[in-house]
This record gives sequence, structure tokens and C-alpha cells, in this order.
Amino acid sequence: MALEERPVEKLDRAVIFLGPPGSGKGTQAKVLAARYGIPHLSTGDMLREHISKGTPLGLKAKPIMARGDLVPDSLVLKMVADRIDREDCYHGFVFDGFPRTVTQAKYLGELLKQHGLNQPFVIHMVIGRSALLKRLTGRRTCRVGGEIYNIYDRPPKVEGVCDKDGGELVQRPDDTEEVVAPRLHAYEKQTAPLVSFYRRLNSLDDIDATKSVEEVQQQVADSVERIRGAR
Ligand code: ADP
Ligand code: ADP
Repeated sequence: MALEERPVEKLDRAVIFLGPPGSGKGTQAKVLAARYGIPHLSTGDMLREHISKGTPLGLKAKPIMARGDLVPDSLVLKMVADRIDREDCYHGFVFDGFPRTVTQAKYLGELLKQHGLNQPFVIHMVIGRSALLKRLTGRRTCRVGGEIYNIYDRPPKVEGVCDKDGGELVQRPDDTEEVVAPRLHAYEKQTAPLVSFYRRLNSLDDIDATKSVEEVQQQVADSVERIRGAR
């Protein structure tokens, strides 16, 4: 494991990546979670796993995700509560794509209290709409390990094959031009209000998500170290 990927001191905190689809939440959440040795929880990945297994939740979520709407709070909240009850979450975790509504954010606040954790720390990925289409339609993900690529900006060495584990790279069915528009609309309407929600709680940092993956990674690391130092 590379030096920068080795787990350092425990974070004991929930970190949330908040930003529009394609802003780089998954890419950065994976790195941060590895650095602190805590789980990376992507509600999108969890829902896609339910879909591929054909569970009752997956069957309900599939048509909703296919059209770019948000899955109802009640379904997502149960899934998240079950996940953070697991022992690997005792020392914190990194959320990517959750919460996405004010209801989800309030519920998360209660869950964290029950688990003896502080208010979450929110990394707000700031990026304009125009950059997102290329990021989303060009995204490819490894079927095996979930590594994220972009055919325009971050291509694999061999087309269609993951550099890390040789897995097949696939495109998500909602990463098409037609579905990107409703997803961005859902973000503006239902998720963007969380920026002021968390800013009021004084627990949010703005990150310039238009920069390179490495530069964003540095901004995120500095930001998280600042809160660790401040408590
Ligand atoms: P999100 O989880 O917010 O939807 P991802 O992390 O999956 O975003 O990234 C979306 C796409 O943009 C992927 O193809 C990824 O490789 C690419 N990407 C992520 N961060 C950057 C960046 N800083 N610069 C350029 N492309 C990026
Ligand atoms: P992206 O990283 O591109 O924003 P995600 O993988 O996070 O996409 O989410 C894909 C889809 O899964 C969303 O469009 C939505 O339908 C559903 N989803 C994921 N997380 C949530 C959530 N917290 N609440 C409601 N729906 C969700």
C-alpha cells in the first residue's frame, strides 16, 4: 500500500461529500476513506447492488433511478441505518451521495447522536453545470472493484479494462444525456438546500471541484485535517 494510502489516526467522525452528480464525490470519497481506514458508503452503489441482486428494494428503486429521480427517503433511510449499525462504522465513515434531502439530513443527525458521533463534516464540491455532462457521459466504472475512470479525462491504460484489477469497465445506465438533465434538476431542487442547512451548523467547507483529481484531493485532505486539529 502506498504511503499516502496507509490509514492514519482514526477520524471518529462522519464525513459527507455533497455535490452534484459528476462532481467527483466517489473519486474523492474512496481516497479519504482509505486514508483514515474507515468505510466508504455510497448509497448509489448500495442501491445498484440491490438492483443487481433483485431484492424487493432493488425492484422498487430500479425504475426510479433509471429516470433520474431520487429514491424515496423511507427506503434509503432504512438501508443507511442498517449499514451504519455495523461494527466497521464505530470510528466514523465517509458518505458519498447521502444525505440528499433535508429529511435525510435531519434523520442522519439523530442517528449520529445515537452512535455517540458529532455532527457530520461536509465537503461541498463546487462546480458549474457545464463541466458535468462530459464527466457523466464519459464515466466508466470497474465491475469488480468499483474504480472510477473517464474516457475523456482519466482513461484506463487499456480501453475497457481496469488498471487495478483487470475488471471490465461498464457505463451506468443513468449516465446518458437524457437522464443527466433530470438528475441535475433533482440535485438543484432537493439536495442543494443542504448546503445552507450545513453551512448554518458551521460544519461545511467549500472545495473547488473543477481542479484536477490530485488538487481536489489535497484541498479535501487539508480541510479534514483542519477539523481534526480544531476539536
Ligand atoms: P460523483 O460521485 O460526484 O458522481 P465521480 O467521482 O464518479 O463523481 O466522477 C465523475 C466522473 O468525473 C468520473 O468519470 C471521474 O473519473 C471524473 N472525475 C472525477 N474527478 C475529476 C476531476 N477532478 N477532474 C476531472 N475528472 C474528474
Ligand atoms: P451520482 O454519484 O452520479 O450523483 P449516485 O450513484 O450517488 O449518483 O446515485 C445514483 C442514483 O441513486 C440517484 O440518481 C438516485 O436515484 C439514487 N440515490 C442514491 N443515493 C440516494 C439518496 N441518498 N436518496 C435518494 N436517492 C438516492
